[in-house]
Amino acid sequence: MFFSDFMNEYDVTIIGAGSAGLVAATIANQLGAKTALIEKNKIGGECLHTGCIPSKTFLHSANLFQEINNSRNFGLPNCQIGKPDVKKIMEHVKSVIDSIYQHERKEIFEEIISMHTGQRLFVSSSNLKVFLLLMVFL
Ligand SMILES: Cc1cc2nc3c(=O)[nH]c(=O)nc-3n(C[C@H](O)[C@H](O)[C@H](O)COP(=O)(O)OP(=O)(O)OC[C@H]3O[C@@H](n4cnc5c(N)ncnc54)[C@H](O)[C@@H]3O)c2cc1C
Repeated sequence: MFFSDFMNEYDVTIIGAGSAGLVAATIANQLGAKTALIEKNKIGGECLHTGCIPSKTFLHSANLFQEINNSRNFGLPNCQIGKPDVKKIMEHVKSVIDSIYQHERKEIFEEIISMHTGQRLFVSSSNLKVFLLLMVFL
């Protein structure tokens, strides 16, 4: 599908389903625009997969570890818990990402927005080509 096709078919076409793209697409839809959202990778973008969510989840575990190890400073019994298991913490981080990603699935957004996931190629400044994931596997 070429970018000109998107321009003919949709009022608004947004490239990138990160925080900005998801909000823009949702608002465009609420304003009554026929909206398409193109994502080359995973819905959710940096914030969900590598930024805000993993970093804050990791920091939460680190803070918890610190507080438990300093429990006496809070008037609690001494609770030294040894070394943190980083592999387990990363599993927890992944589970938090997965639980949020469940609510950002393509199918959920497709109820209101036309989603197009897959690699895209600029053919010229005005032509955008989307290779749907399905085609990549064929
Ligand atoms: C470690 C870390 C911690 C952070 N913590 C916070 C925080 O606590 N709070 C906060 O507000 N912000 C935080 N941020 C910043 C936040 O992640 C970004 O501001 C936010 O993700 C930007 O969203 P975006 O939609 O603009 O871009 P992105 O999230 O980068 O989304 C862009 C999307 O577009 C897709 N895309 C790009 N090019 C194309 C293309 N040509 N065709 C199709 N798709 C394409 C990408 O695959 C991606 O999914 C953090 C960032 C990092 C790295």
